[in-house]
Amino acid sequence: MSAAKHCEAIRVVVRCRPFNRKEETTRCENILEVDDKLGQITVRKPKAPPDEPMKVFTFDSVYGWNSKQRDIYDDAVRPLVESVLHGFNGTIFAYGQTGTGKTYTMQGMSKDPEHRGVIPNSFEHIFTQISRSQNQKYLVRSSYLEVYQEEIRDLLCKDNNRKLELKENPDYGVYVKDLSSVVTKNATEIEHVMNLGNQSRSVGFTNMNERSSRSHAIFLVTVECSERGPDGEDHIRVGKLNMVDLAGSERQSKTGAKGKRLKEAAKINLSLSALGNVISALGDGKSTHVPYRDSKLTRLLQDSLGGNAKTVMIATVGPAHKSFDETLATLRYASRAKKIKNKPRINEDPKDALLREFQQEIARLKAQLEERGMLAKERRKRRRDSKRLSKNVWKTAEEPDEGRPCLIEAGDGAKVLTYQGSSEKLKNLNLNRRSLADVQWDQDAVEKILEKYKAMESKLLVGGKTIIDHTNEQQKMLEQRRQEIAEQIRREREIQQQMMLQDEETLEIKVTFSSMQQEVEHKTKKLKRLYAKLQLLRGEMKDIFDEHVTTRQELEETQEELTRELKYKYLLIENFIPPEEKNKIMNRLQFDSEEDQWWLQPVIPSERSKPTLKCTRATVE
Ligand code: ADP
Ligand code: MG
Repeated sequence: MSAAKHCEAIRVVVRCRPFNRKEETTRCENILEVDDKLGQITVRKPKAPPDEPMKVFTFDSVYGWNSKQRDIYDDAVRPLVESVLHGFNGTIFAYGQTGTGKTYTMQGMSKDPEHRGVIPNSFEHIFTQISRSQNQKYLVRSSYLEVYQEEIRDLLCKDNNRKLELKENPDYGVYVKDLSSVVTKNATEIEHVMNLGNQSRSVGFTNMNERSSRSHAIFLVTVECSERGPDGEDHIRVGKLNMVDLAGSERQSKTGAKGKRLKEAAKINLSLSALGNVISALGDGKSTHVPYRDSKLTRLLQDSLGGNAKTVMIATVGPAHKSFDETLATLRYASRAKKIKNKPRINEDPKDALLREFQQEIARLKAQLEERGMLAKERRKRRRDSKRLSKNVWKTAEEPDEGRPCLIEAGDGAKVLTYQGSSEKLKNLNLNRRSLADVQWDQDAVEKILEKYKAMESKLLVGGKTIIDHTNEQQKMLEQRRQEIAEQIRREREIQQQMMLQDEETLEIKVTFSSMQQEVEHKTKKLKRLYAKLQLLRGEMKDIFDEHVTTRQELEETQEELTRELKYKYLLIENFIPPEEKNKIMNRLQFDSEEDQWWLQPVIPSERSKPTLKCTRATVE
């Protein structure tokens, strides 16, 4: 069955962006120093006395202002995506203050190869690898969602104002109910899906800039792979890749949020502070309770933090002295995340594999067609038109159908989207499934089945067959070299970091003294070094204490604001709502522990529609 469970730390990397124009014109000072060979980043406090020690952080990798998108992909992301293709779950999330390059790193500019971010680069990577595989069948589907103010929205659904619910199931874990997903055959198609999602992120809302910096966007790619095992049976491996562009991490007090805005801000930051709490709880190794259930985001990322996934965190920072506090906070956050251990394993033959359903359906259709001798006829036709057909295959792979995707039902109640042209056929498939068995086998019906069969088969990617890989041998070699170099650099850095840690210890062991004078000198040096270390830790303690005080003040402010509002609402209830009406309403209230919310039951009991009004816990308690 699956590979043995082993622990694996989250990979944490930091990227520093260049100065932006505003910072350049206002002559901002650079407070960061990046040592990419050692994976170290040094932060200098602006206007600090010269004897104050600088803050040094070590990560798996650090990338300076001139780092290329490709370098980050090869070093931090490629191995993770490779694992997803082997059936592991993988998560990449970008964390940092607004304007530090989260979206640039995750999305970039997909049209410009130099500036393509992690998401479009992963598309190319996935489909290239599939085309190079042998004796494997793949099904690739993707979903795109946004968490804004603790509400989940489907970015691939026309009605993106609809709020989706989170559900939990012992077989599938935490999932979003009714989230649509799109089956895609190549990188162009999946990129089209991403663009549609991005459009619906910006079109529906007027305050796009604010929204995008305050919402969390998750692009999910599911890669299912079927391969014949030594037992002669087909086995399915499913890898899920989460790519997350988190909301800006800046403090709300800095943005001057007041009143309603402050309340909103508390909700927006709820997910991020819950993420911080989860990271702290997992990192300190002592907490028995990890508060995943405190927010939608932490529930969605439950597997990625301490669970069954390989995870990479990309922390983004700016170089300017003005953002010293935020930069330091981001680096501390990232440092804590480094301590988290996950337990990734290959997901073999999971119950919710769509690929199996696809294969069963194709086999069923094939059997029906064989019965009518249609496949033999088709094969003859294919042989005749082989040249023309191969051209067409490439053409369809290059040009995705236009228009919005539409839905077909998948087994677990989720909806699967596909492009309009072929989807029409697929959509009818389920409807016709039962009736076709009874219908007279006239020519039209057979033609229909044939079309459906072809449509479904075309969704399945056969390694080395369906997608034509145009890269020549030289290019492949080049790619391989680049990968090897990235791997080599990574290993060198790891060794250097280990050596640094060991250096101090070995120094202590090896020293022998020939005179008292020598011993005194050595011990004085050691004392000085340890004293500097002590100062550094004291400073760190003070900083963390100050940070806690600020957070506490912010929370108190929010609490005061909420209490004021609650009092005001009580006042309205006491003075304007008759007691019997109030009781009626109270009797209709019901608490949904799964959603952690109160619901107002509909007035007419026979009505089977969903409750109409939703109240947060705070408003009714
Ligand atoms: P965030 O998503 O964190 O709010 P953005 O990704 O939107 O930040 O970046 C803000 C601006 O900085 C954008 O104009 C982006 O192009 C630019 N930028 C960010 N990171 C880099 C980088 N590493 N190199 C060049 N430009 C960058
Ligand atoms: Mg952004």
